[in-house]
Amino acid sequence: LLKIDQVSASYRTLVKVINGVTLDIRRGDTVAVVGESGSGKSTLARIVVGLLPREEGDIRFGGESLPPRLRDRSKDQLRRIQMIYQMPDVALNPQQTLLEIIGRPVSFYFNKSGDQVRQRVKELLRQIDLPESFITRRPGELSGGQKQRVSIARALAAEPELIICDEVTSALDPLVAEEILRLLKRLQDELGVAYMFITHDLGTVKRIANKVAVMLKGQLVAFGSTPKVFAPPFHPYTELLLSSVP
Ligand code: ATP
Ligand code: MG
Repeated sequence: LLKIDQVSASYRTLVKVINGVTLDIRRGDTVAVVGESGSGKSTLARIVVGLLPREEGDIRFGGESLPPRLRDRSKDQLRRIQMIYQMPDVALNPQQTLLEIIGRPVSFYFNKSGDQVRQRVKELLRQIDLPESFITRRPGELSGGQKQRVSIARALAAEPELIICDEVTSALDPLVAEEILRLLKRLQDELGVAYMFITHDLGTVKRIANKVAVMLKGQLVAFGSTPKVFAPPFHPYTELLLSSVP
């Protein structure tokens, strides 16, 4: 589905923040991306969605090369990869109702309007286990977990094939985080989406990811199936990472 091939990029400096990264994500995969703070996980996500243009290498999605820049991508290329962030507060416009927030991709990508959008938003609210009556609420009237559900619904509204989750449970209390993980898992079973799942939590990785990518200083030091990467022979950094959790 997604092939990242020898990709490098930097933020307006000569220092490469991502350096020669190669990995692939297949349909239905959950690929966890782990590594210490500053190792380039979020930057890699930004490169895939086109917020930061790659300087070297290629990224192929569904068989076609994705232009490095967001503005050069087709509507359909934009639609097929969606992203969810750590802080739903920052990502959701506090002025808008859930109808507007979740309905926007429905009208933008599928040229629907009025009642068709409303129906689809209700359906999406059901899918994320929120009552239909929430359609008129605004983000300020929701709990943290509910807000994160709304950002999931907004991503689903685009009917993506890949959803990039950047620390989506880090700001939530453990029980709510667990509910969000279960929801993401269920949606994957129902819809067949693939996840690129950026996280600090190795416990979560072992539970939900079939593959792991270990990043260190902008490079990929290990990539493969979760049991393989987390078993000997380890890359020394993976071993260090694993030894840091009780
Ligand atoms: P964390 O786990 O803390 O979220 P990360 O692995 O997601 O870390 P990135 O945010 O990708 O790390 O950052 C990788 C490197 O790029 C860091 O050295 C960071 O300081 C740098 N960086 C990130 N964003 C920018 C930016 N907008 N401009 C310049 N440098 C940046
Ligand atoms: Mg990050």
